Amino acid sequence: MRNLNRQNAIRDISTSKSPIVTEAVQTGIADYGCDVFNAEVMRDYLPKETCSKLLQTIEKGKPLNPAIAGDVAHAMKEWAVARGATSYTHWFQPLTGGTAEKHDSFLEPSGSKALFAFSGKNLIIGEPDASSFPSGGLRSTFEARGYTAWDPTSPAFIKRHDNGATLCIPTAFCSYTGEALDKKTPLLRSIQALSAATRRLMQCFGCSGKGKVTVTLGVEQEYFLIDKHFFLLRPDLIQTGRTLFGAPPAKHQQLEDHYFGAIRPRVLNFMSDVEQTLWKLGIPAKTRHNEVAPAQFELAPVFEEVNLACDHNMLVMEILRQTAEKHGFVCLLHEKPFAGVNGSGKHNNWSINYEGRNLLNPGSNPQDDAIFLTVLCAIIEAVDLHADLLRSAVSGAGNDHRLGANEAPPAIISMYLGDQLEAILEQLEQGSVQDAADIAPMKVGVDTLPPLPRDATDRNRTSPFAFTGNKFEFRAPGSSQSCSGANIILNVIVAEAFDRMSDFLSGVKAADFHEKLQSHLQVILKAHKRVIFNGDGYTQSWLEEAARRGLPHTRTTMESLKCLTSPENVQLFEKYRVFSRRELESRFEVGLEDYHRKIRIEGRTALEMATSQIIPGVQQQYLTVLNSLKLARETGVSSGLEALRSQAAVLGEGLDSLQQHCDKLRVALGGLHEEILAAMQNLRRVADELEVKVADENWPLPKYHEMLFIY
Ligand code: ADP
Ligand code: MG
Repeated sequence: MRNLNRQNAIRDISTSKSPIVTEAVQTGIADYGCDVFNAEVMRDYLPKETCSKLLQTIEKGKPLNPAIAGDVAHAMKEWAVARGATSYTHWFQPLTGGTAEKHDSFLEPSGSKALFAFSGKNLIIGEPDASSFPSGGLRSTFEARGYTAWDPTSPAFIKRHDNGATLCIPTAFCSYTGEALDKKTPLLRSIQALSAATRRLMQCFGCSGKGKVTVTLGVEQEYFLIDKHFFLLRPDLIQTGRTLFGAPPAKHQQLEDHYFGAIRPRVLNFMSDVEQTLWKLGIPAKTRHNEVAPAQFELAPVFEEVNLACDHNMLVMEILRQTAEKHGFVCLLHEKPFAGVNGSGKHNNWSINYEGRNLLNPGSNPQDDAIFLTVLCAIIEAVDLHADLLRSAVSGAGNDHRLGANEAPPAIISMYLGDQLEAILEQLEQGSVQDAADIAPMKVGVDTLPPLPRDATDRNRTSPFAFTGNKFEFRAPGSSQSCSGANIILNVIVAEAFDRMSDFLSGVKAADFHEKLQSHLQVILKAHKRVIFNGDGYTQSWLEEAARRGLPHTRTTMESLKCLTSPENVQLFEKYRVFSRRELESRFEVGLEDYHRKIRIEGRTALEMATSQIIPGVQQQYLTVLNSLKLARETGVSSGLEALRSQAAVLGEGLDSLQQHCDKLRVALGGLHEEILAAMQNLRRVADELEVKVADENWPLPKYHEMLFIY
């Protein structure tokens, strides 16, 4: 009764070749964006006037003229059909965390024949039967349906499969009472809020206040690849995305030989296939490399406007998964697929531009520097005041395993500015204090900042929120999470801080503007510099220091979600029209539900694996030892008995212990999530200890050293 699944998997992996992606590899840069309904295509397919109206909507954020929808729909269809599409779908991002689509063909019967048609109405609005999406009580199943509404600021694109293609139209998803049921709607609202606040702030600095504001986002995406043969033998990976059992291998990442190492040809084949697909979709995939953990990798695109970048990251995750399948891999996007090695995150590089100038780029003259320092101080204030919201934006059952696990930033939100910038802020704070020892005072609006070298600012990988030269890098988001959550919060809290700054500055006379600004920035720094921390965020001493500074340390999803509905936060989001109270309550509900469901699924999966795979495997081993003992006694040999007896004892005790922990887990499954997590952890400990004591052929589950190294 030997179980040879694992051995067969290894044999198959060693003899199979990764698919050679001939047709995709031929695609070059000339095909970049060929599956996107972009400005160039619009000019080709639309009447001139319609085209310029649509471009105004897209570029200047003007409201869409409904009269042009019919023309646009027709053009989109003509273009999509010419590129092989037969169907279209509104593409949206419900609160499941993924994307959703419901396809309709362009087909329209016409007599005994049929033709392809697409109306303006079908472009602008869709009515998916959306009653089964999570809404946190906003729209019970018997109420009116939700509807999807075209977001013209994110271009339509074509998704391909082996036997056709579909036109995808990015949309927002709302209830008929106008409440957001998705991740895009509040993001769009938050962009508006931050744009308005930025224009107002820039007006205080003598700008027209009418310039275009662009929030930009570059998302570094981490992921694991494992061979599909192994994946299929792991019910935990199939059901939960992470391994619920598995003993740590002798070698994992301690030699640090994987990070930036040469990329194996099979993986490179996969990566270039992913890139070709992304490029066709106009997604500027740029960087690829091996990450710290074995079998872990990263993909980073060039940054884009934040709404587009969030949509693009959803597509990146989808294409990573699909392309992996094609290459005989499975792409794991879970935040912590393997215990004991690094988990995966998603670095959220964020900045804000006014009239094409990045406000997080230190300028080259005193006025630009004054703006930079003002923006910087406002962000420091925002992050300190709303650390709880930032933390809640990255909460989730998966990310709980990663944050604070000494490989990802701790669950304490702090900011890293780099030594040089910190010194500058110190000078700013001391600006009027002439006798401060060895600190050269600095005067806002008079002095010019020294150039800040970009590289020197990016050395602290332990900080959740780091200034990296011309942007902030929020490193806490999890690899599987949509980027919208984090950016909604960032946009809103910075909008609020900008507005507070403008409230102050608008009352200041031009003559003493810079002096007043300086003293105001000093007040902000004094009040909020506790959030700045340049040291090592992985150390115990930081946990203690952070506690002394009064910084919140929110370890779990359950704790972190609570702040969503606190009176101050309801007020904040309502003020900026990003979330209503009801919407916040619904998101709180959805977050909790999602968490509970995931933990329960994990618990049930662990129990089933233990009873149906691990215990039988150990029993098999136990039986083998007992048979050997019996045989040894019968034949009267004297050597080896002691070893066999001690093996039998270890296995017998292990079996008892497994059984007890299974029983406890079964009971825990009827209770609270903490109990489930603890019971799973205890069961896992026993199983992992037995893994190295059971003969290889009796262990049913692919082991860490196999999954992480054989591919
Ligand atoms: P790292 O050292 O963290 O790899 P990179 O310079 O490679 O840093 O940038 C990481 C990400 O940040 C990339 O996606 C990049 O496009 C993005 N990025 C660079 N500048 C900006 C910016 N001004 N706004 C938003 N993202 C940016
Ligand atoms: Mg980075």
